Amino acid sequence: IVIKCKAAVAWERGKPLCIEDVDVAPPKVHEVRIKIIATGVCHTDWEYLYETEKGMKFRPFPLVLGHEAAGVVESVGPEVTKFSPGDKVIPLFLPQCGECKRCQCPKTNHCRKNWENTQMGVLADGTSRISCKRQQVFQFLGVSSFSEYTVVPDTSLAKIRSDAPLDKVCLLGCGVSTGYGAAVNTAKVEKDSLCAVFGLGAVGLAAVMGCQVAGAKRIIGVDINPDKFEKAKAFGATECVNPRDHSKSIQEVLVAMTDGGVDYALECVGSPDVMSAALESTADAWGTCVIAGWTETEEMKVKVLKILMGRTLKGTYFGGEPKMSLPLDQINVAFGLLKSGKSIRTVINL
Ligand code: NAD
Ligand code: ZN
Ligand code: ZN
Repeated sequence: IVIKCKAAVAWERGKPLCIEDVDVAPPKVHEVRIKIIATGVCHTDWEYLYETEKGMKFRPFPLVLGHEAAGVVESVGPEVTKFSPGDKVIPLFLPQCGECKRCQCPKTNHCRKNWENTQMGVLADGTSRISCKRQQVFQFLGVSSFSEYTVVPDTSLAKIRSDAPLDKVCLLGCGVSTGYGAAVNTAKVEKDSLCAVFGLGAVGLAAVMGCQVAGAKRIIGVDINPDKFEKAKAFGATECVNPRDHSKSIQEVLVAMTDGGVDYALECVGSPDVMSAALESTADAWGTCVIAGWTETEEMKVKVLKILMGRTLKGTYFGGEPKMSLPLDQINVAFGLLKSGKSIRTVINL
């Protein structure tokens, strides 16, 4: 049966979301309908609504945004074997089918299952399960967690422990996994290394935490908003720098502070200028810069010499390899986030 519930619908880009009554159709083959209990509001949601002309590709509207969530399985479609009603789950905007070439490759987490249709805001059969006023509403990244109920493919869902606090672990659905994974999986931060994290939102704070867990000696938090510094220090930043306090460029400041540059720079802002600065703040002969901040259409400037000397520039999607495993090995990361305060991420309880 169709479930009638509330959802925040984006009717068009650049306009605020409208709370609407929507219909959520039953799950089809290999699909699961879930009741969303809590959802984070990620920077990426905002970007797709308000920055489609700046750095984002166009997505079809009307759209239900939201991709960082936790919930409970309400019902399962035909041929679903791994989930049952009542299971606690985290929907994944990047699936893990376990069968495609990418899933078989230990070097990446970029499963290709449903990739094209997910980017187009529909499920495997080319339609979405959410409708409003008899009109199809597209599902952002195949998830759409700004709705009390949604339907996702069974390959885009992770079962979690039945005692997991859903309003905390929802952050594993994007921000925490991305930032933590950027440091631990993609940068592979080493013990006693020097790190700089640009941008101290949820992604950046999780990156700080990843650097700390990896045993970094210095973790320099960089943000233009000094209000973020206290929290960053609670997460493990050893010092913080506001680029606006300096007349020199932030890369010059960091190179001077570290006598030649950091070993690892993590960009968690999503700005091409900050990406270039992050790269240039690394040590010339071996520094690694990982980009986690999101932009789809912009270009960053890379001085060839910066690479020629031996630096590495990498990107990360949902925290890189290996596969996200839930919840045991990362649940403490979510708890750590919780401990240090609530305003890093607004979590909405549905
Ligand atoms: P956020 O808005 O909470 O945090 C961004 C921080 O960057 C803010 O504290 C802001 O003050 C700071 N900032 C802005 N301009 C700056 C500058 N010039 N120098 C230093 N700091 C600056 O965002 P978030 O939710 O933490 O997300 C961060 C980025 O990560 C976004 O671009 C988001 O789209 C992206 N993201 C990427 C992935 C991925 O898979 N790679 C996943 C999730 C989010
Ligand atoms: Zn996100
Ligand atoms: Zn796959």
